[in-house]
Amino acid sequence: MWCIKCKGPASIYIRRHNSAFCNEHFLEYVRRQVERAIEQYRMFTKEERILVAVSGGKDSLALWDILLDLGYNVDGIHIDIGIGEYSSVSKEKIKIFASQRNANYYEVSLRNIYQTGITYIARKNDRPYCSTCGVIKRYIMNLFTVSKNYSVIVTGHNLDDESGALLGNILHWQIEYLKSQYPVMPEESGFSRKAKPLSRLTDEETTIYCKTKGIDYVRERCPLSKKAQSIVYKEILNQLETISPGTKAQFYFGFLEKGKRYFLGAPDTLPVSSCRICGQPTTEEICGFCRQMKKADLDPLLLKDAIERI
Ligand code: AMP
Ligand code: ZN
Ligand code: ZN
Repeated sequence: MWCIKCKGPASIYIRRHNSAFCNEHFLEYVRRQVERAIEQYRMFTKEERILVAVSGGKDSLALWDILLDLGYNVDGIHIDIGIGEYSSVSKEKIKIFASQRNANYYEVSLRNIYQTGITYIARKNDRPYCSTCGVIKRYIMNLFTVSKNYSVIVTGHNLDDESGALLGNILHWQIEYLKSQYPVMPEESGFSRKAKPLSRLTDEETTIYCKTKGIDYVRERCPLSKKAQSIVYKEILNQLETISPGTKAQFYFGFLEKGKRYFLGAPDTLPVSSCRICGQPTTEEICGFCRQMKKADLDPLLLKDAIERI
């Protein structure tokens, strides 16, 4: 196998592109895919302040690393959702990465603010862990991005995540979620701009990227998400990909191209107003975060105060 760029010995083969790369040209390929996504969807510019949401997993650490290499002005935010060993290992990996790269990041810890974690809040609400966690993380990311004057929040969602989510949304005809599958969501009515610069790269590619760059990350899955349905959809797409390389990209990018007229610029079905408790944007009288916290007898405003003090 020979690198398609320099014709030297190749160490990495990407089947869906039928292309082999040496280490150096694989890293260049990855950076180019991210640049293409940023440019194509006008995600952000070098002049803007970017906040990357880092879980400690391979995707978000790879994304942070790539954006730093490309010369973007990017800081990190980690939300410690308080699930014991998993959370402490995640924090450790992030700390090591940030010190190696001399990068700046913030930590928002639920346990420090509320002396409790996600499992307690989910149980009090009688809701699945993942949906409780999603509401809390999205709320914190938005509040932080807006109140600290960042132009955009970026997440490590990759092609496997997006094509898997798309399959799930279509199987259940959850068309209201399709809009958020676009790689960039503009800022509107108190919601910050959001972007997914890894949407052109697969799980396999970000794994190889971390290995090649020597980035250490949390390998375990979140212990609360083991049964998540999204994992099943990703596995099914992987089976299709084995039979027919390129399926995931065709599925997701075909959707973006053909489906965009249905969700880009489509009027929102529900008007956005300010939450009666915290003032954050919501389509209801009280936002999802405040409702969840109230049900768990926790004061939603403690979080806002904590973020203001950071
Ligand atoms: P997941 O839904 O766990 O696959 O995560 C998707 C993306 O959300 C990750 O790539 C991160 O960018 C972000 N994310 C997930 N968990 C956290 C966390 N605890 N703190 C900050 N960002 C997170
Ligand atoms: Zn090469
Ligand atoms: Zn609220």
